[in-house]
Amino acid sequence: MDTPPTIHTVITIPETVLTAPWPAGVVGRYLARAGATVDIRSNLGNHVYASCTGCDWTDHNVDYYTRQKAQEHAERCLGIPLPATS
Ligand SMILES: [Zn+2]
Repeated sequence: MDTPPTIHTVITIPETVLTAPWPAGVVGRYLARAGATVDIRSNLGNHVYASCTGCDWTDHNVDYYTRQKAQEHAERCLGIPLPATS
């Protein structure tokens, strides 16, 4: 019986994601598949707000659950962020 091939995924992180300052209030980020970010913003208490820069996905819940949903969204989202405006 043949062993199934191993699939490797190479993720290239855009330089701007690594070097650009985070927007005000953002306390965590997940990189989505097409270069958008899913940003976590602190809220009162242990709740946080998450939003994606590549689509209109948002979530607001207890920190742990929102971060888990944000990471899951980032792993699937193919949205491309809007170009920066000056
Ligand atoms: Zn998205």
